[in-house]
Amino acid sequence: MKNAILKCTILLLALLCVGNLAFAQKTKKTKPAPMSEVDKRLEALKKEVETKIDGNAKMAQVMVDKVFSFAELGFQETETSKYLTGILEQNGFTIEHGISDVPTAWWAKWGSGKPVIAIGSDLDCIPKASQKPGVAYHDPIVEGAPGHGEGHNSGTPLNILAVLTVKEIMEREKIPGTLIVWPGVAEELVGTKAYFTRDGYFDEVDMCIFTHVGDNLGVSYGQAWGTGLISVEYEFSGESAHSAGAPWRGRSALDAVELMSIGWQYMREHLDPIQRSHHVIKNGGDQPNVVPSKATIWFYFRHFNYPGIIELYEKGNKIADGAALMTGTTVTRKVLGSAWPRHFNKVIAETMYENIKKWGCPNGAKKIRCWRWLCSKK
Ligand SMILES: [Zn+2]
Repeated sequence: MKNAILKCTILLLALLCVGNLAFAQKTKKTKPAPMSEVDKRLEALKKEVETKIDGNAKMAQVMVDKVFSFAELGFQETETSKYLTGILEQNGFTIEHGISDVPTAWWAKWGSGKPVIAIGSDLDCIPKASQKPGVAYHDPIVEGAPGHGEGHNSGTPLNILAVLTVKEIMEREKIPGTLIVWPGVAEELVGTKAYFTRDGYFDEVDMCIFTHVGDNLGVSYGQAWGTGLISVEYEFSGESAHSAGAPWRGRSALDAVELMSIGWQYMREHLDPIQRSHHVIKNGGDQPNVVPSKATIWFYFRHFNYPGIIELYEKGNKIADGAALMTGTTVTRKVLGSAWPRHFNKVIAETMYENIKKWGCPNGAKKIRCWRWLCSKK
């Protein structure tokens, strides 16, 4: 069933590309063909896409399984990136490696001219999520190893299949346009998308399609359901001393971390209930008989909108300052990443939704989910 839904998603992505390319060409013609002819041609191309995607089911399965087996954490997607960019390169894409100074990041491009369609999905996996495929209880392949607990092994492989299918048709039909495939490197750490944007990679892009695995097919527009966040690490510095011999000489950075943690938990009751925030202690010292001179605590501050995220971040900073004051330590903070609430395009969503309705889910799959933004139209 999962494979069937993946196949269907590839098909829809490819259909969306074909639909938009054909539309761009249609609007450029000085003597436009009658609508019915264009529509007929578009339908024929879509049918061809469907057949080609079906014919490449094996390739999709191999790519999805390979990336699953690599199971690499954020910023460590070395084999994953080598493998996926290798396929794109063999198929005529030009790869820019190490974009935004991130060694495992890349930007793959093929074609020329407008429209420029960029298609992205995440690549990284999560810690300690190693799991045997198809087993519905915790059963790791390697105990304690990372794994694709969030399905990031599937997105880029299916994006690749979608663009290769569309590319074949574009070449034959001499349809102008540029296809870009880009990876959500270190997505679980919200590590790279903001940097790609800051470095201007999306400036030339006309439309950006992003896909994520789920248990069904769905699409939305406007602000999506879900939070944005700031990822920030607070490092406290104190004074080391022997914990038994001369503890009065010490200033414990761990005490500050613990106070920041408990301070945030007390604050939680009085926060907007829609917020989400969580933390881990990354460094709590070395051993009990040494007063920890360094300790770090790492927070994700999440909310549904920008002001909400900033408010949480500022509250966190104040609590950190308070914890330092209480313990005679100092604190520095480092923003490790950020992700802002997503906003999706209505035209793309509605076009995709029409294709979803038309092609539907594979046999045996659940009914298509109608997301609330689109349900109101029915
Ligand atoms: Zn994900």
